[in-house]
Amino acid sequence: MAFKDLSATQQSLQLLQRSLERGRLAHGYLFSGNELESLETIARTLAKTLNCQEPVRKNGLAVDCCDRCLACQRIERWNHPDLHWVRPESKSRIITVAQMRELMRVIQLKPNESRFKVAVIVAVDRLRPEGANAFLKTLEEPPADSVLVLLTTEPQRVLETIVSRCSRLSFGNGSPRPLDAAQREWLGDFSELASQERKSLMGRYCLLDTLLRRLAALRTSIEESLSARSPLQQHQDAEKNLLDRWEEELTASIEAEYRRHRAELLGVLHWWLRDVWLRTLRQKPNISDRATSPADKPLLAIAAGLEASLLSFPELAATGRVAQRISPIEALENLQILDQLQRWLGGNVQEALALEVGLLKLHL
Ligand SMILES: [Zn+2]
Repeated sequence: MAFKDLSATQQSLQLLQRSLERGRLAHGYLFSGNELESLETIARTLAKTLNCQEPVRKNGLAVDCCDRCLACQRIERWNHPDLHWVRPESKSRIITVAQMRELMRVIQLKPNESRFKVAVIVAVDRLRPEGANAFLKTLEEPPADSVLVLLTTEPQRVLETIVSRCSRLSFGNGSPRPLDAAQREWLGDFSELASQERKSLMGRYCLLDTLLRRLAALRTSIEESLSARSPLQQHQDAEKNLLDRWEEELTASIEAEYRRHRAELLGVLHWWLRDVWLRTLRQKPNISDRATSPADKPLLAIAAGLEASLLSFPELAATGRVAQRISPIEALENLQILDQLQRWLGGNVQEALALEVGLLKLHL
């Protein structure tokens, strides 16, 4: 993909292209956004643009890639010698010190084929202080013609020492990505149930149950599809230590994939709770309950129209019912509770407990 294929309306993309145009690229970037996948696409497009053999130029400087030349193709296929990727790999899903040392070693070497060396660190929030220390000096003064791109969906978890050494660009596109049929159905059920509940503990546990069942179904389907692809299936007669390693890799990849899906599901919930919050603003245009004067009417109509266009799931009737019962402040607290829940789950707390505490706290 080239920059021209990505959403041109994104301010951060425009900023990035403008820095290319002016030859003012930073040495270290921190890209944040909703999904690692799209951040990786942007990082890859930047790497292509820097190394493309026939780039689109402005003022003589490359501002986009051709997406066709050999360099572009090799970057697309992950086998360009001057583009290095680091991702959380170990069992505990952290980026290890050894991975960072290796990256520092290769980034110091001269580029093999192209002008720029590009290092991309995926999920840099998984880098612990020990790993970060191995890396801070390079981040501060990277070798000439090298660019370090760090990606995260949880910028609040990235170590401050790293954030302060990077140029930050946020690619959160301000709306959730389209839901698939199963997610849509689940959110419909969940919101409906939430709108019925009358502050009873029983109702709350029903909600928790809906969430846990969806997560269990996700885990099962992930287990099935990853197990089918694992070499364990085809080579059951392999040596024991090889089998053990495959087993370990399979377990780790199931866990990583499950966590990604779980975060995505909670992300969907977050967008719905944001809708609830927007609706509370309409139902209570002024928190002090001041009587609305006729002069306010056109303003309120505009506000209602604007709010409708901001809703992520305007089709869900349950949103309005929940919004009627809670204040905008409570609705806003819900968003913080979801953020907190994602942070807990990102750490090593027990999942069921975290979900229970989180759901019990929500104002519904
Ligand atoms: Zn190219």
